[in-house]
Amino acid sequence: MKALAKLKAAPGLEMTDVPLPEVGHNDLLIKIVKTAICGTDIHIWNWDEWSQKTIPVPMHVGHEYVGVVAGMGSEVQGFKIGQRVSGEGHITCGYCRNCRAGRRHLCRNTTGVGVNREGAFAEYLVIPAFNAFPIPDDVSDDLASIFDPFGNAVHTALSFNLVGEDVLITGAGPIGIMAVAIAKHVGARHVVITDVNDYRLDLAKKMGATRAVNVAREDLKAVMQELHMTEGFDVGLEMSGNPQAFRQMLETMNHGGKVALLGIPPSNTAIDWNQVIFKGLEIKGIYGREMFETWYKMVALIQSGLDISPIITHHFKVDEFEQGFAAMLSGQSGKVILDWR
Ligand code: NAD
Ligand code: ZN
Repeated sequence: MKALAKLKAAPGLEMTDVPLPEVGHNDLLIKIVKTAICGTDIHIWNWDEWSQKTIPVPMHVGHEYVGVVAGMGSEVQGFKIGQRVSGEGHITCGYCRNCRAGRRHLCRNTTGVGVNREGAFAEYLVIPAFNAFPIPDDVSDDLASIFDPFGNAVHTALSFNLVGEDVLITGAGPIGIMAVAIAKHVGARHVVITDVNDYRLDLAKKMGATRAVNVAREDLKAVMQELHMTEGFDVGLEMSGNPQAFRQMLETMNHGGKVALLGIPPSNTAIDWNQVIFKGLEIKGIYGREMFETWYKMVALIQSGLDISPIITHHFKVDEFEQGFAAMLSGQSGKVILDWR
């Protein structure tokens, strides 16, 4: 089958031919329909330090997808051939304490589809049936193909009660922008998002941000004054991984504020701990999506009228993958979809 793979330890990805994956007795064989390009795939494309340490070569990558069930192992129940599915990319062990308690997102032995094992940028993908998630008819292929990052946004945004709260989102990447729409949908008052990229800030504005602030030339505290926010933000969602953005968030939080951290900063990032301690901030790290509460919430949010479709800005046939990656690398894109049919 056709697959988009890292064939040598260097930047880029190549279209290649690989054997069909074997289907174990608890596995599902999925025929891929559409995939989306993740920020992680860009790290892998660029072959940065993290990728060099993490990605086996040769291997095909990718973990944002929608497809249809094309086969299944003898033990699999609850799925039908032809059914549309996406899948949770974190494969958990099933035997650690958190897994046994149903807190699969906290599994200490998690491995990643398209990161530690063969991915979804291929005609077929095999995953444990446990990880597959059925897609209802009223959710489009496009939206289903971005459930992985949409799930990051939902998991982070729903970590704290947002009803009537003023929310700061740092980082208008695809995940931060989707978080804007979610926060507004569930009843936040002001949702302010920051970035240094005007294209992305414009998209965030279209998706409901009260203010989209370019911190390279605008003062966040002045924006807060304009909005009559005299005390500070109630909830912060850090979605940039940028240390300066995180520090600015800590400075502008109200006392007793709640902060969820999704962005991945350099491990030696320093902050002013006095902001955390004397403000009594509550800080929560977010990894992936809750299995599978986040997935049910995603469907329910869409079915209750949340529209995240403007985040999808580009479509390409899979053979045009280089254009797709170029769009992502340009910073002038939201989500980029590759069609495998
Ligand atoms: P992205 O890289 O597309 O977006 C990050 C944005 O932050 C960019 O638009 C960038 O311009 C912006 N930024 C840079 N400096 C800034 C500053 N000083 N203030 C505000 N914004 C600034 O990333 P994404 O795909 O949307 O993901 C968001 C973050 O979440 C990334 O750090 C990613 O690595 C991380 N992530 C974490 C998980 C997890 O499970 N914890 C999962 C997926 C992604
Ligand atoms: Zn586990």
